[in-house]
Amino acid sequence: MLKIIYHEDYLTDYFTSLAENPLRISIIYNKLKDYYATVEPEKASKESILRVHSQEHLEKVQQESMETYQTAMLAAGGALCSAHLACQGQPSFAIIRPPGHHAGRSRYGGFCFFNNIAVAVAELLETGLIRKAVIVDIDMHRGDGTQDIFAETSSVCVIDVWSRQREAYLELLQDELDRVEEADIIAVSAGFDLYVEDWGGLLESSDFHRIGCAIHETAHAKARGRYFSLLEGGYFLNDLGKNVLAFCQGLEGKKGESDAV
Ligand SMILES: [Zn+2]
Repeated sequence: MLKIIYHEDYLTDYFTSLAENPLRISIIYNKLKDYYATVEPEKASKESILRVHSQEHLEKVQQESMETYQTAMLAAGGALCSAHLACQGQPSFAIIRPPGHHAGRSRYGGFCFFNNIAVAVAELLETGLIRKAVIVDIDMHRGDGTQDIFAETSSVCVIDVWSRQREAYLELLQDELDRVEEADIIAVSAGFDLYVEDWGGLLESSDFHRIGCAIHETAHAKARGRYFSLLEGGYFLNDLGKNVLAFCQGLEGKKGESDAV
């Protein structure tokens, strides 16, 4: 059974883009909370953040505002919580904000401050819990921060495909998943902005279910069933909860039409 990672402090109203607002989180949480048990994360430690970010970067986020810094530390903490649960064989979806995949070692942008998925994967690697990770980024935007952080790390493989055609996108993603070699964990940067009504204008709700299923199958075939997923983008509020639920039901390996679609 999937778990969800959530903390009410993700609703903190810090200064950011109008699109990346707390309502995204409450909509997703309200949709998922009746289906899955919730785990409340703690903030990441500075030590965890400094595995992938420079000291200057951390100080820059601190100077943004106390609300930004505290929420960003809690988002990274949510990612760590999700990653550690995965190592115990417990999959989860972390409903966190701010998102992280654009944050590089010493820069941030695109509503991201700390690279949540990189902080989590780096901790598992450095503490010896895993030796090889695959990161799958399904957000509309390229996870440039994640790619930069792990550019010289052979123990992390980042999958981030792109096509303007729906079927071609899904096939490319499946091909990449088919090519995955044995890994210790699969981590997903789960953005929902490729949705047909969202900025990307590409995927149907049922496609998020299909992608979730593909991750489930790949993780069971090649990563000992160890996987976790973190919220990145997704801004079309009317269907955001439905799309995340469809994805989560796929992650659970529920075949056929999900309840959400
Ligand atoms: Zn995005």
